[in-house]
Amino acid sequence: MFLKYYSRMKTIIEPFRIKSVEPIYFTTKEQRKKILEAAHYNPFLIQSKDVIIDLLTDSGTSAMSSEQWAGMMRGDESYAGSSSFYRFKKSVQNITQMPIIIPTHQGRASEKILFSIIGGPGKVFLSNTLFDTTRANIEYAGSEGIDLITEAGKHPHKIAPFKGNIDVSALDEAIRKYQPENIPAIILTITNNSGGGQPVSLENISATAKIAKKHNIMLVIDACRFAENAYFIKVREAGYTDKSIISICNEIFSHADVITMSAKKDAFANIGGFLALRDPDLAQQARNLLIVTEGFPTYGGLAGRDLEAIAQGLEEIIDDHYLEYRIRSIEYIGEKLQKANVPLMLPTGGHAIYLDAKAFLPHIPLNQYPGHALACALFIEGGIRGVEIGSVMFGKYNPDGLLISPPLELVRLAIPRRVYTQSHMDYVSEVIIDLIDKKDTIQGFKIIEEAPILRHFTAKFVPYSNQSYV
Ligand SMILES: *Cc1c(COP(=O)(O)O)cnc(C)c1O
Repeated sequence: MFLKYYSRMKTIIEPFRIKSVEPIYFTTKEQRKKILEAAHYNPFLIQSKDVIIDLLTDSGTSAMSSEQWAGMMRGDESYAGSSSFYRFKKSVQNITQMPIIIPTHQGRASEKILFSIIGGPGKVFLSNTLFDTTRANIEYAGSEGIDLITEAGKHPHKIAPFKGNIDVSALDEAIRKYQPENIPAIILTITNNSGGGQPVSLENISATAKIAKKHNIMLVIDACRFAENAYFIKVREAGYTDKSIISICNEIFSHADVITMSAKKDAFANIGGFLALRDPDLAQQARNLLIVTEGFPTYGGLAGRDLEAIAQGLEEIIDDHYLEYRIRSIEYIGEKLQKANVPLMLPTGGHAIYLDAKAFLPHIPLNQYPGHALACALFIEGGIRGVEIGSVMFGKYNPDGLLISPPLELVRLAIPRRVYTQSHMDYVSEVIIDLIDKKDTIQGFKIIEEAPILRHFTAKFVPYSNQSYV
């Protein structure tokens, strides 16, 4: 990857100074064993004050800039026609060039509104990979969601530049099978969060848009990490190296009919989202629903100060220096881990490191949850909180009660934006590398209590054997 601001040989200097700090409380290994046991061996049930490095999610966890905080003070809290809304709208339009912008309280609110209108029983949505809230909203509307990820995206160790692409020939085939009139939209998630934060190329976006147009199907872009995706296009796709991030963003969104966005990701905000679209009739229906569940169309479930924070965040995210720092710092952790033979998803994506738990802990059978075991071991060893993306999160049971596992067992370490420094990341790498030496002592888990849906949030576990590492 071409680097303009950084050198591969030198320390990654964060492109910001720290003006306000938050303490991290350190715990001992003995304390962490008790904390995890009290949390029923479920990292989601641990209090954040007991975590040293919290990599559970990059969503809503960004550090805001001084300009964003200044905007918070400027926030206009008028019910209707707030000047903060107009600043927000201008900022979103600068990036998307979409005519109609509707604020929402977060990404899933945009999804709920959109799929309540265009979804319904018998409808099918095709995607590179649907994020879990997107899928949940599609299914809640009675429709079906189908993932058609490109072949390279299915192999965690295969190096390819755009592993988030949709498989265009599978898309053609699916349209023939389900018939265009039953397919309200094709959805491209950029970057592909559930598929390792891997980017989608502009060539793929444009080819998908062409297919969508031919069949009169809407193209929706789930744009949560659009700027990280645009940066990957700039450095990896032929013809884009000399283009600015903003012009790449404009080109990406020129292909979309609708955009859903969570401002908790690439807008550096702690809350917020929007729906951007072209069709005035669809917008009217969306606003009708918005008023019922979110609020008046010039605030949509947000305070004026939140709109200001998003407006400013969107100006800051398209800075190529910040983006190079962001992507390079993720790549840096990946390089350190690779050197120590830690199995991980490659190449590293935009917002997280994904450890391959199946390869890390081959002695733990899938029905003893190797991803979960690795997440627990990371907490005990170093107070690091990640999230299992594997048999706990996506596992289902067959009629005989046997576990059906998803294809990958991963532990995602999502990196909050502008929050941790290189020394924090060095520490995280050291803890993971220490675990490689002790991996045979890590044992699996049994689930003793679980909810019928989204069980990973609340399930209770016990270690499989008393000799276990935990
Ligand atoms: C986070 C996310 C969403 C949902 O956004 P929320 O703000 O959490 O509701 C949708 N799609 C993708 C790809 C996401 O990462």
